[in-house]
Amino acid sequence: MGDELVHREVLSPNWNERAENVSMVVLHYTEMQSAEEALARMCDPESQVSAHYLISEAGEVVRLVPEDKRAWHAGVAYWRGHTDVNGRSIGIELDHPGHMWGYREFSEAQFEALVPLLARIVRDHDIPRANVVGHSDIAPTRKIDPGELFPWDRLAEYHLCLARPEKLELGDPFDNDGAFYLALERFGYDISDGHKAVEAFQRRWRPEKIDGRIDGQVRAILFHLLLDRDRGRTR
Ligand SMILES: [Zn+2]
Repeated sequence: MGDELVHREVLSPNWNERAENVSMVVLHYTEMQSAEEALARMCDPESQVSAHYLISEAGEVVRLVPEDKRAWHAGVAYWRGHTDVNGRSIGIELDHPGHMWGYREFSEAQFEALVPLLARIVRDHDIPRANVVGHSDIAPTRKIDPGELFPWDRLAEYHLCLARPEKLELGDPFDNDGAFYLALERFGYDISDGHKAVEAFQRRWRPEKIDGRIDGQVRAILFHLLLDRDRGRTR
């Protein structure tokens, strides 16, 4: 296997060839009661779903699809102008009961396995930090995983995703909702359902209050994210 970060390989039949280079990572939760159940589902040709990696709550990393192949994890999705997210991304499933079976903190062992794996993927494919996203970011009308308890702040400390902007003194630049939606689209979100898009943005960037409403704080956070990208501090 040539990858000490992968503990086991259980190959899934659910993949096809990529037409694009890898430029994104999508994080998911499995929303199942065990890792073995999730593995069985992703290896069942009937299910038509897969991911490149599954990380169990105990921290075991299982490879299901080679990174140069197109796994089937994103479904109908959109990010930064592109709809074929599967074709451009690596999908990582986190073994977790999800909101369906009792939403809870992600395990420490799982996080500790995710960090070096993600670091290696981001480095190998030169993935922009703004393209390390959750499933809810790319499918806001359908998905809420990995959800508001996923520790994005901790991942950002390792420079593996964008950090939440802290200094918001530049305030509230979008003085109407249309301008906010336009900025949200420019950052990457599908805004065809505005309320859902705002909820997805909040779930990722302001998880303590997810109400789908555009308030001053979410405006300021989005403004700083875009400003940092435009100034070349992130990409
Ligand atoms: Zn998902």
